[in-house]
Amino acid sequence: MKSNGKYVKSIWFMTAVFAAIVIFIFVFGMLDFFKGGRKEQITYDCSRLVGWSLVKEDGTKSEIALPCEFNVEPGETVAIEAYLPKKIHNDVWIDILADDDFNVYIDGKERFKFDRNKDTIIGGSVKETHYFVELFAEDSGKIVRIEKRGSISNGFFPNIYIGSSLGLIERTIRKNLVFFIGDVSLILIATITIIIGFYQNRKQGSNFMIVSVGLGVLIDGLWLVFDSELFQFAFRNYYIDGVISYMLLMIVSIPFMYYFNFVQGERYKRIYIIVASVLEMEFVVLTVLHFTGVANYLVTFPVMAAVEGAEMIVAIILFVRDLIKGYTGSYRISLIGIMGYILSGVGELIMTLISDKWIDGSLMLAGLYWLLSFAIVHQLTIIREAQDATAVAMLASEAKSNFLANMSHEIRTPMNSIIGMDEMIIREAEDDERIIRYAMNIKNAGNILLSIINDILDLSKIESGKAELICAQYDLSSAINDIINITYKRASDKGLDFLVDVSPGLPRTLYGDEVRVRQIIMNIVNNAIKYTNEGSVSLRVSFSPMEKDDYINLSVSVVDTGIGIKKDEMNKLFTSFGRLEESRNRNIEGTGLGLNITRKYLDMMEGTITVDSEYGVGSTFTATIPQKVVDYTNIGNFSDAVKKIMPLDEYCTSLMAPGANILVVDDNEMNLEVISGLLEVTKIKTDLAASGAECLSKLSRRSYDLIFLDQMMPEMDGVHTLAAIREQFPNVKCPIVVLTADAISGAREYYIKQGFTDYLSKPVKSFQLEAVLLKYLPSNLILSKDEADRIMYAERKKRKNENKEALPKVIVINPDSEELKREKEFVDKAFDGTFVRDISNARKYLEKHEAEYVLVKASDYFDKAEE
Ligand code: ADP
Repeated sequence: MKSNGKYVKSIWFMTAVFAAIVIFIFVFGMLDFFKGGRKEQITYDCSRLVGWSLVKEDGTKSEIALPCEFNVEPGETVAIEAYLPKKIHNDVWIDILADDDFNVYIDGKERFKFDRNKDTIIGGSVKETHYFVELFAEDSGKIVRIEKRGSISNGFFPNIYIGSSLGLIERTIRKNLVFFIGDVSLILIATITIIIGFYQNRKQGSNFMIVSVGLGVLIDGLWLVFDSELFQFAFRNYYIDGVISYMLLMIVSIPFMYYFNFVQGERYKRIYIIVASVLEMEFVVLTVLHFTGVANYLVTFPVMAAVEGAEMIVAIILFVRDLIKGYTGSYRISLIGIMGYILSGVGELIMTLISDKWIDGSLMLAGLYWLLSFAIVHQLTIIREAQDATAVAMLASEAKSNFLANMSHEIRTPMNSIIGMDEMIIREAEDDERIIRYAMNIKNAGNILLSIINDILDLSKIESGKAELICAQYDLSSAINDIINITYKRASDKGLDFLVDVSPGLPRTLYGDEVRVRQIIMNIVNNAIKYTNEGSVSLRVSFSPMEKDDYINLSVSVVDTGIGIKKDEMNKLFTSFGRLEESRNRNIEGTGLGLNITRKYLDMMEGTITVDSEYGVGSTFTATIPQKVVDYTNIGNFSDAVKKIMPLDEYCTSLMAPGANILVVDDNEMNLEVISGLLEVTKIKTDLAASGAECLSKLSRRSYDLIFLDQMMPEMDGVHTLAAIREQFPNVKCPIVVLTADAISGAREYYIKQGFTDYLSKPVKSFQLEAVLLKYLPSNLILSKDEADRIMYAERKKRKNENKEALPKVIVINPDSEELKREKEFVDKAFDGTFVRDISNARKYLEKHEAEYVLVKASDYFDKAEE
């Protein structure tokens, strides 16, 4: 920051110094120059030659004052005469400004002759040029006669000067200086504008509006330079100068056509392209004619004027149309510039028509400055508007991300209760299949809802640029194992064969973002299962070495025999919310976000994903993920592992620790109930605290083996409570795990940095909870699986008996086993029932047990009684 400040300061300093120098030059140098400089030293002779008379064909003379114009028919000659000064020294010249054929006679003898057709080099076109005719001492007091032949223009005689060569040049420079400086500056500004325009196009993707107007102004400015009287003193070859002027004049409108096109929002793109093409063609044709000597630029000038005029009319019509339609609002600023420019051009033209002597290009120059200034202001407004829009969009996107993060938090908290309570229903419901079925439906729907929330959150993180890879060392075999564990169950539930082919040579330990790698693989395997109704899903994991040392390309290929993807739908696969064949797949849950997220994470990892699919036959999705290898030890044989699969989301007693004491801190009563409910089966003694303060007071009384601490609590949140624990109870060394509904990127790292041992995101699932307990509880407190199963079994049995003891006893007799089954379903809810198929069995039972009711089908009973 500091060095940047210095840098800016030095730029300001340099600018100030430069400005001071410029002001110095202008104030002292230019003022002095215009005052005539130090006259006593530099005196260049130069004065107007006066006393001219017009010589008629019959020889009569009449006095005239220059500048002067005569109507001369082509082929006619007009002559003027004057007396030269009485005393002529060395280095004295007369300066005649002309663009047409003329002869100079001194004392009746020809001294100088300009014949356009003989003297020009290319094509015979000449512009107004200063011709210097040298005089000698013997010419003193003699008559100078200038004859002009009318060919293309009227017979115009400007002022004719006499003086030393330097004196004549100085006069011309002084006369044109302001214009010349103004023009050269314009060329510089236009060049800078073009460079900035190109830069903006590359960096910010803006269009070529500013480039095209810059180019137009540059060409126009150059034309004014080439057309200026001064040009010939720098470049002696004024014949070429004339040709260049014509060429520039012909192409100057092309960039302006593009400028108009951009200004008008490319509404009339086609028309402008056609007009620009006509101008280009005109340039080529006229130039070829000129250089081949068929017709020079002077001759073709009317054609050029007509084409340029037509092109201006087209542009004006289009602007008027915009005006009528009310489209001009969006480019008001540029329009003011364009109108000013057109007016300056028209003004210059009118002046030319009125009299040749008034053309000097100043009005045109002012018009160009006007045009460029407004175009630059317009561009600046566009940039500012774009910046404002970006700022607004960024604010909106930030607000969206925050909203999504908060929303996901808000949804996850009640989801914790729903999924947690539901889990308890599944455990408690025991034999009631109907309740279990309902609860399982809630569980499935809850999990789908959670995965949708996670997808939306992921995508919003990626789109706001907040998603980042969190790389660490990880065990590839356990990642693959977990994925197989989860997906195998889903596949077999659908009756699909799940085939796994993991290359045994895969390195065991890799470095990368394990969570994202798992997510990518899970996504494509899950899709394969979702979109396959019969047959198989195969997961193949292999690798190939990369050029970069210690890197491999992890290749995950999932082949299914599912519904397949139509060729023309392939391009929709990776778009947000792009679900294919909506009507057919309506019953398959999904958001259309999964593959988009997968692809974006793969892009972040510089990986790839390819799809090969045949509609109705099946698909193959292949992802390659570059990962760094940490340990090359082989992963080993996976097919054995697959046989021992135990689905993770099916509840089983994996942990029991009756000797452990833990503390759960959460301000939400329902959450406390969920966690203690989930923990009930583990037999862990659970203390509950509803706030940070209560947690501290509990800690002062006893010690715990582990603490679960909620983050979002009023008054004292998790982080503060943890700090207070560390401060007040330095001896508390037990693991403290934060519970939070935060699922935003980097949450885990944040909490671990804050000093928590680990992180559990809500909704807490029983297997995650138990995994944390298994990891952090002292191992001597955890019972072995056999012991745990034994206790569990004994409890179930006891509970079943206890429940039954309280119910009225009934014996049901029915020979029809189907009916008996139905009766069992019905009776079992309210009675402790015994079910037999005939009376003798009932008797046998009643010999040893008691029953309050006997249920028999009336028909059976009476039939039997009759017997
Ligand atoms: P969704 O949540 O809908 O599954 P995805 O982004 O994962 O979203 O997939 C986008 C679409 O691509 C799906 O809706 C489905 O139509 C199609 N698709 C993805 N995987 C497969 C597959 N293995 N077989 C057939 N179609 C698939």
